[in-house]
Amino acid sequence: MPFELSERIKALPPYLFKELDRIRDEVRSRGVDVIDLGVGDPDRPTPSHIIEALNKAALDPKNHQYPVYSGMTAFRDVVADWYKRRYDVELTAQTHICSLIGSKEGLAQFPLAFINPGDLVLVPEPSYPVYRSGTLFAGGQSHYMPLLEKNGFLPDYQSISPEILKKAKILWINYPNNPTGAATSLDWYKDLVEFARKWNIIIASDAAYSEVTWLDKPHASILQVPGALDVAIEFHSLSKTYNMTGWRIGWAAGNATLIKGLGLVKSNVDSGVFQAVQFAGMAALEGPQDCVKAMGQLYKKRREVLVAGLAAASLSVLDTAYTFYVWVRVPAGLKSADFASKLLNEVGIVATPGNGFGPSGEGYVRFALVQQEARLKEAADRLATLKF
Ligand SMILES: *Cc1c(COP(=O)(O)O)cnc(C)c1O
Repeated sequence: MPFELSERIKALPPYLFKELDRIRDEVRSRGVDVIDLGVGDPDRPTPSHIIEALNKAALDPKNHQYPVYSGMTAFRDVVADWYKRRYDVELTAQTHICSLIGSKEGLAQFPLAFINPGDLVLVPEPSYPVYRSGTLFAGGQSHYMPLLEKNGFLPDYQSISPEILKKAKILWINYPNNPTGAATSLDWYKDLVEFARKWNIIIASDAAYSEVTWLDKPHASILQVPGALDVAIEFHSLSKTYNMTGWRIGWAAGNATLIKGLGLVKSNVDSGVFQAVQFAGMAALEGPQDCVKAMGQLYKKRREVLVAGLAAASLSVLDTAYTFYVWVRVPAGLKSADFASKLLNEVGIVATPGNGFGPSGEGYVRFALVQQEARLKEAADRLATLKF
């Protein structure tokens, strides 16, 4: 049957990792013990007290029916308490918070609520691909903001022309950043909020990695800025903080109109998060947080182990105290994809070529610290033998 994909699907960029997957499988089939540091999916299990909360809630028939679309009041109250505790930010559960089936779901659907065909969305690159595809699905157009090393991987939004800014409806940011590991400060958020008010632009902040750190305090939240609730929405995820990528739970918090708009899209598309999973989410946020600290220390150690191998190969690593990514400059004269192929073919290590996250990622590769320390030590030993 001559079924044709829609123009919007056809407009999606080609799957850049396909060639690398092909080479990986080919290298594996030669019997090479491949160390996969490609995808950013935590390898450690979900802490057991969270699993127990799920088990208990799953047995209660009250949780077997459709959940409340925007999340149980109890879940949203727990999120509001979390903001108060973590950031001293006061939010009202009913108007400022909406549960999500993983934050990816919210990132993808949010533009549908505020973008008309032809509207511009300011999208950083390199970045998580969903900002771009969500814009495309809503009929909007992405205007890219390069994240450059010389600017600390922060977008230089001040340099965007007034013509573009007049047409822009949403500006996406993501700190701590995937893929670069870069972080930012409350002062930077303050300036951004002021800019957003001036140009009447929504700030959509993806904070998936705010808790993935080995520092004592969390990364700043844009919602800490006085007046942020006038212009900002923040997307959070339990996935990376509590090793819950498979569970699908997160939330959006911020401006009431933005939350309401997102909720309107969602109530037409999905039916909320399984309540037993919401109970597990509450256990995660309210329970002991030593698991979060321990994961931070684990990633710190893993990072040191891998970075030692990278340094032995004279590769230059971007420093950070956040995320479980290592962003590395490729040797002069090589492209990201060439270097990723070389890593696979010569030392059996999978890393993601930086240009897969956007053109400004060219010249870098990303390693995800999602293997145990002994495997990373093996990776480091192999890296140290690399010649170029
Ligand atoms: C992993 C990730 C998410 C999405 O996480 P969910 O599992 O959908 O909650 C969002 N943004 C970035 C940058 C990520 O790396």
